[in-house]
Amino acid sequence: MSDHYVKVKVQLEQMKSFGEDAEKEGVDAEEQVPVSPIPAPVSPDPSSITIAGKDASNTSITCKHRGKSRIKPGKDDKNSRDKHFSDMPLVSAPVGKNLNRPGPERTLHIKGTGRILQGKSETNGNYLTIHPSKNIKETHHEDGFSLARKRRPVTVDTSKAKTSLEALKLSIKQLKWKEFPLGRRTACDIYWHGVSFHDNENIVSGQVNKFPGMIEMLRKINLSRAVRTMQELFPEEYDFYPRSWILPEEYQQFSTQIRMVKENDATVNPTFIVKPDGGSQGDGIYLIRDPSDLKLMVGSQAKQAVVQEYIQKPLLIDKLKFDIRLYVLIKSLEPLEIYIAKEGLTRFCTEPYQEPSQKNLSHVFMHLTNYSLNVHSGNFVHSDSQSTGSKRTLSSVLYRLTAKGVDIKKVWSDIIALVIKTVIAVVPELKVYYQADIPPGKPGPTCFQILGFDILLMKNLKPVLLEVNSNPSMRIEHEQEVAPGVFEYVPSPVDEEVKVGVIRDTLLLMDPGHKKHSPVSPESYISCYNCNNLSLPSLCLKQVYPKYTKQFNYLRLVERIAALFIRFLGVKGNMRLGPTAFRTFIRTCKLSNSNFTMASVDILYIDITRRWSGAVPDSREAGMGLQAFLEAFFYLAGRRFKSLALREQVMSLLELCEAQLEFQSPSIEDRRSVSCSRALPRAIRTQTLGLSNPLLSSPAPLRRATSQDHRLHQKLNPRTLRANVEN
Ligand code: ADP
Repeated sequence: MSDHYVKVKVQLEQMKSFGEDAEKEGVDAEEQVPVSPIPAPVSPDPSSITIAGKDASNTSITCKHRGKSRIKPGKDDKNSRDKHFSDMPLVSAPVGKNLNRPGPERTLHIKGTGRILQGKSETNGNYLTIHPSKNIKETHHEDGFSLARKRRPVTVDTSKAKTSLEALKLSIKQLKWKEFPLGRRTACDIYWHGVSFHDNENIVSGQVNKFPGMIEMLRKINLSRAVRTMQELFPEEYDFYPRSWILPEEYQQFSTQIRMVKENDATVNPTFIVKPDGGSQGDGIYLIRDPSDLKLMVGSQAKQAVVQEYIQKPLLIDKLKFDIRLYVLIKSLEPLEIYIAKEGLTRFCTEPYQEPSQKNLSHVFMHLTNYSLNVHSGNFVHSDSQSTGSKRTLSSVLYRLTAKGVDIKKVWSDIIALVIKTVIAVVPELKVYYQADIPPGKPGPTCFQILGFDILLMKNLKPVLLEVNSNPSMRIEHEQEVAPGVFEYVPSPVDEEVKVGVIRDTLLLMDPGHKKHSPVSPESYISCYNCNNLSLPSLCLKQVYPKYTKQFNYLRLVERIAALFIRFLGVKGNMRLGPTAFRTFIRTCKLSNSNFTMASVDILYIDITRRWSGAVPDSREAGMGLQAFLEAFFYLAGRRFKSLALREQVMSLLELCEAQLEFQSPSIEDRRSVSCSRALPRAIRTQTLGLSNPLLSSPAPLRRATSQDHRLHQKLNPRTLRANVEN
């Protein structure tokens, strides 16, 4: 036997971590996981968790939620909100152990061989082949191809990695890849940038961990605009983002609406949070209760900011407000591929929470969860444990909630939906940036990016999006006061646990070898690595899109309008439509007639671009940007299909344009066009979903009304680069 190679079919059941497959097969997930790195649950103290509408003391402790049930996606998109999306995060009992270092519990005995394999894998019909004599391992697959015999190691340029360097180095080491800390003369497979796509110029191949335009798109104002456009079209689906007003443009709307709300009901006293547009780490943020408290000017300049409804009733743990930092990988824009990390961080305030009152408005340690602020509070608790202290793992918090009887499957499913919808909101403009920086047909790298989603759970467990960070901190050390007033960076096991996993998984998914063998699931690919004695833990990144395409595709409406926009851009590298291109769009799509002449088209163009383009001297910036084009498109849709509701108007015009373009002969624009999904929209629901006061109507409908009147007031933000910060 020893002279022969050993063929081992590794049973899926043996290899799986918690999750869907266990439950699919009707097996209790807890009994199912002989290789689980998670120790037996330890009862948390549920009494200190505050949950709306539940009596904590009456809630029985159950750990059944540790398993994952997949509710099959419904045929009808309309029901998607009621579905639970699976891929539950690990829900771990409090431990202080680092999962990045695979423990003995991952050891697998290979049936009939006496051999031992380390690490976990999910091999659906795949098997490992070990050639002991040749020391070559292969992974075979049902469809008959085999992966990587002995490949050259993947090369990573880490010269621009900045503060993510430590976590990146550890990940590269675990994968046995090759790091180029000073860069390399010849091309690398992967370039890891600390800040932006442009950190390293002139990359013509490989993959870069940043998308062009992501920093700009995720600035507070631009994110608010992108989500607002979606709120106009899909108000119910996008009710996870607090009502926001853009300052200074919408100051009047803001103050008028608040005044009306207060006049209607004197008992209503909402609180608002003001966030400077380019700010991060809580800088410049303050709470107000009256529009007159806004600090609108910095010197003689109007401050660009977002003022947002403040969520007054967050979920508390140990009487403290906390938020969730979730890591999300956008693996590609076309086709859209999104992964969510099952493990994340939670950041706790350091002063017990009270609902906002005039007295406590300025208590930042009570209201803001930013680590960078709270670390300077005397109450900040550094802990090596994942489940105590002011920074904890997401799984330990979910475990506490599970123990409290919370349906965390539902919470997780809502979080997945929030992430997918947010990405869908920003993708249209990202595609405009992408084609400008990396025009089709020109050599260039492909891009991927890890984003940091900041999510607050409301007392009723509804997740709310606070912001998305294009440059989430990947530091695995934290600041600690080693002597009074003296701060030093010391290793942080909680950060290492989460962040090294996210980076390592991202690298694995971006491995050019994996791409080449794309039919292989990432899980199977891991098994290939593991048979090279790497002992990697199972993936913490789980694909959610295209996995849940069916449920969310209908939301990708603006992306189709962006595809039209890109098609008519004309010149490579351009991001804005000129007047001629706009006319061509109108003519090609046959949108002018005797009631709407080309002269009216020109007036529309001038009117809208003037208001949106603002003072942008850069010639590349002159003309009509995507946001302005959307404004024009909505206007045209309203004119043409007066009797319909907004979403139907837009959909009808889009279908009309797409049908016209189908008749046109292929042109130069076709090569630039970005294909998008064509799912039909859901039936229209005009009702807005308020997070609290229904009287407080969002500025979105206002913007719509003004757009139809040609009284647009918004200006597209100039493409200024965000400060060189990570958060
Ligand atoms: P920054 O980029 O400066 O961190 P955030 O938008 O993340 O700005 O806000 C900072 C903190 O303020 C958040 O971590 C959260 O604790 C709190 N916060 C932000 N928006 C809201 C809101 N709408 N309701 C309640 N708390 C909020």
